[in-house]
Amino acid sequence: MATLRCQHYPDEHYLTLFNPETGFFVRAEEHGYGEPFCSAQGPEMIDISITNWCSRECQVCYRGASRSGVHMSLRDYETVVRQAARLGTMQVALGGGNPNEHPRTISFLYVPYDVWAALGGHYRSAFYSPCISTPYLELGDSLEIV
Ligand code: SF4
Repeated sequence: MATLRCQHYPDEHYLTLFNPETGFFVRAEEHGYGEPFCSAQGPEMIDISITNWCSRECQVCYRGASRSGVHMSLRDYETVVRQAARLGTMQVALGGGNPNEHPRTISFLYVPYDVWAALGGHYRSAFYSPCISTPYLELGDSLEIV
């Protein structure tokens, strides 16, 4: 059964709801207050470009990705994730370039869980949920766009 994680930030007048199994996330401000531009607590979600390599080399690429791109090291990624965990970040997204063309993509997916375990689970970020952004054509013919 999914556990819905609720975190209240009274000083900033909003709360978050997060389902670590599905990635469902809601940020809701208290009545009479606007949505904060950013959180003083730290990021609730981080999106890390683990490579700017992409074999497709689209002319319109918004990231300037190409076959001459470089890959982020697993060690640097672990450092960033560990810092995020201490701040209470709940979700880590992998982006690129094409993160599927990083030679260690699978290892990157395990890092948030390993970091949390190494920290002893006493930080608020006990509910990491990784997600990944990739060119949709690589997901195969079974993908249905609705
Ligand atoms: S598929 Fe995406 S990441 Fe790759 S070159 Fe094209 S726009 Fe850039």
